[in-house]
Amino acid sequence: MTASTSERPAAVVSAKGAARWAAGHPWIYRSDVLGEPGAEPGVVRVRDRRGKFLGQALYSPRSEIRLRLIETTERPLDRAWWVSRLRAALARRAGIDATACRIVHGEGDGLPSLVVDRYDRWVVAQLLSAGLETMRADVIAAIVEVTGAEGVLLRNDAGVRRHEGLKEQVELAWGAVPRSVEVREGEVRFLAAPWTGQKTGAFLDQRLNRLIAGELTRPGGEALDCFSYHGSFALHLARRAARVTAIDSSAEALERGAENAALNGRTNIEWLEADAFEALRGFERSRRKFDVVVVDPPAFAKSKAALAGALRGYHEINLRAMRILAPDGVLVTASCSFHLRRAEFMEMLAAAAADSGRRLRLERLLGQDVDHPEVLTIPETGYLKGAVLRAD
Ligand code: SAH
Repeated sequence: MTASTSERPAAVVSAKGAARWAAGHPWIYRSDVLGEPGAEPGVVRVRDRRGKFLGQALYSPRSEIRLRLIETTERPLDRAWWVSRLRAALARRAGIDATACRIVHGEGDGLPSLVVDRYDRWVVAQLLSAGLETMRADVIAAIVEVTGAEGVLLRNDAGVRRHEGLKEQVELAWGAVPRSVEVREGEVRFLAAPWTGQKTGAFLDQRLNRLIAGELTRPGGEALDCFSYHGSFALHLARRAARVTAIDSSAEALERGAENAALNGRTNIEWLEADAFEALRGFERSRRKFDVVVVDPPAFAKSKAALAGALRGYHEINLRAMRILAPDGVLVTASCSFHLRRAEFMEMLAAAAADSGRRLRLERLLGQDVDHPEVLTIPETGYLKGAVLRAD
């Protein structure tokens, strides 16, 4: 058992550590912890060198990120506290027209290292720090109380848990959760795979951008969805386009895409197992043109060191996509690499446009919707950026 907050010694932090909190960032690193609050993870009080109370934090004794600010008062973090924080997070999502969305985006919702995604009547969560792990029972109980979920699955198979000294595993925490869950996103239905799918079962972060892409598809046009996964964008494009080509390098993802098409009664999507770079070069050679092209690649820059190589990849794929746009065609392009910031992304697009020989107008900037809140003082909460570009 972990000692309760009141019994254990407080963590003492340096002026630099305290300044981070004052500037709106919840993390304090190991080097700014002058006095460790014992060796066990959990919730701890945090003080400055003069003993002034600064707040309560999740403490991770083995992580470089030692303290994550979670509460600025002395209020105990019991089940009722979790219920009120989760209710506030849910209220921020009011009006989302989908049965699947994120309901807690960690630091973005003031609940560091916690991710909670809803898939219809079921919930998939991730506890991503050692401090949070000690509160598992209250967190799960509060999730059930607030959402009325029939089951809660923990997709704790995320690599970041290793930095915390935690095991990577998938565990059923409450009730039962099916292998496959049918969800609705606007007018589109798709099957999410909570136990085995990417992330917590689907890429919920692009929901709004998929709706936008669907809306700007011209009736009767030709559309292309590169990096399609289980057809998420393709299904929205197919509502209006005459024909949609969906490309992914994973045969398994495309099989699920075909199931999703059947679920929506769509027969106008062609599933193509291919490398998107090669496929786009092929379309350019054969002079095939599209009215809408979606480019939503996996994170090419997994680390800061990988950024230069990643930029070449983003440049290449966007350049190819620009070249195959029909007159008045639109490119919906995105990057989910945290290390590629929005300004560099826009510079990359400008350079690709210059090389493409096309004139492209910026119609709209894309980002994360309200269910993935990006907090300005916490850059780590924002990673997804994109643009809608229209060719002459
Ligand atoms: N657009 C999707 C998410 C895409 S995730 C959505 O909104 O849900 C990235 C996808 O790219 C994965 O399905 C992966 O299998 C695929 N992929 C990765 N490298 C690829 C490549 N070189 N060519 C085609 N697909 C690729």
